[in-house]
Amino acid sequence: MRDQCNNMKKKINLYLMLLSSLAVVITLFLMAAVFYHIFQKQVMDDLRLYAYAMAQSIGEEGAAGSYDYRGHDVGIDGKVRSTVIGPAGEVLYDSNADVVSMDNHAGRPEVQEAFTNGEGQSVRQSDTMKMNTYYFTLLLKDGNVLRVSKDSHNIWSILYSSVPAIFTAVCALLGLCLIVSRYLTKSLLAPIEQMVADMDCIEEKNIYEELQPFARTISRQHEAILDNANMRQEFSANVSHELKTPLTAISGYSELIENGMASGQDVVRFAGEIHKSARRLLTLINDTLRLSELDVMDKEIPFGEVNLYAVARDSVEMLQLRAQERKVELTIEGEVCSVWGDRQMIEELVYNLCDNAVSYNNAGGKVWVRAGVAGESPFLCVEDNGIGIPKECQDRIFERFYRVDKSRSKSTGGTGLGLAIVKHIVAIHRAQLHLESEPGKGTRITVLFGR
Ligand code: ADP
Repeated sequence: MRDQCNNMKKKINLYLMLLSSLAVVITLFLMAAVFYHIFQKQVMDDLRLYAYAMAQSIGEEGAAGSYDYRGHDVGIDGKVRSTVIGPAGEVLYDSNADVVSMDNHAGRPEVQEAFTNGEGQSVRQSDTMKMNTYYFTLLLKDGNVLRVSKDSHNIWSILYSSVPAIFTAVCALLGLCLIVSRYLTKSLLAPIEQMVADMDCIEEKNIYEELQPFARTISRQHEAILDNANMRQEFSANVSHELKTPLTAISGYSELIENGMASGQDVVRFAGEIHKSARRLLTLINDTLRLSELDVMDKEIPFGEVNLYAVARDSVEMLQLRAQERKVELTIEGEVCSVWGDRQMIEELVYNLCDNAVSYNNAGGKVWVRAGVAGESPFLCVEDNGIGIPKECQDRIFERFYRVDKSRSKSTGGTGLGLAIVKHIVAIHRAQLHLESEPGKGTRITVLFGR
């Protein structure tokens, strides 16, 4: 679990780092683009200002045809180049080059724009890859076009020149991200780690609201597992305890016979006792095995149609002899009705209930077994006018090894597991179990099956 938590931390750390690095890089590029745009606009605005200032000063002094602007101080630094182009595109004046060597400028977009709109501008990459040349053109009163231009760094050269600064900033930011993401993952995972460390008091822990249903489910499952483990432990202890009595009897009686301490009639009696204890051992083991089987049985039991009435009639028939021995009248009534279930389990269910009704009865008592349909649901009802069950024990008789009267149960060959098996079978069939009982008057147990 701890390993998985560490893996999770690493993963969250990594994602946070990647995300923040990506954010840093994207932000840098975006900011560079925005600043570059502002920078370009600024250069162009400056050029416009120069152009208008120059145009004005020409308007005051200049005569058409004599373009020498070198004397016009409009605060232009030496980096600004000015050119005057005639209506046919011929260069009339250039501050930086010899006019004769210059080609016709009629095709230049900024020049064309100025001739048509009065103003024009364009940006072109200069001879050196690092620089861009910015042009601003203005149509003069004399019909010529004044063009001012300036070389400036382009975005790549700006970015390139700021690489060391960017690199340092990215490293510093990544370092910061590393620290923050570590702190974040730690504080994010702390409640989960706490929950993992101590499953017992999940409810009291300061866990995220979103995780609370999950935590509650785990807590419930945890409790169920503990309960189950306790129950199994208790069950094993009970089984061992139950097995001890018949085994002690077998061992004692056989020892007496072995040592020659039993003679004639005694041997027969001891053998009878040994037989009885062995039978008891077998029933105990059978019931225990059956319960374990039912415990692990998954939901995929192949169900089929079972005639409940026929099963009840067979059980009654099987128990008739025992009932006669105990002077109990055992009757069956009802009608053919079918339930959806497992035949063997339903036989066990009916037999256990009828067996109890006979066993916990009085001489001269009665047992009524009824099977039929009530409304649309098939039901089985086993009623007796026997000893009954005290109110305070009624909830517990379905527990494993619970008996109201231990000695009576043992004398009738009971294991204390019969009703636990019944409860299991009822649950597997999604049926309902109702118990009504009054000490001294009798007991009625009804099983209501689903449609
Ligand atoms: P046992 O093997 O002891 O019969 P069960 O699980 O079948 O075990 O029953 C548990 C206990 O419930 C019995 O020991 C008995 O005390 C009580 N009991 C069950 N059925 C009846 C009944 N029809 N009348 C009175 N008591 C009953």
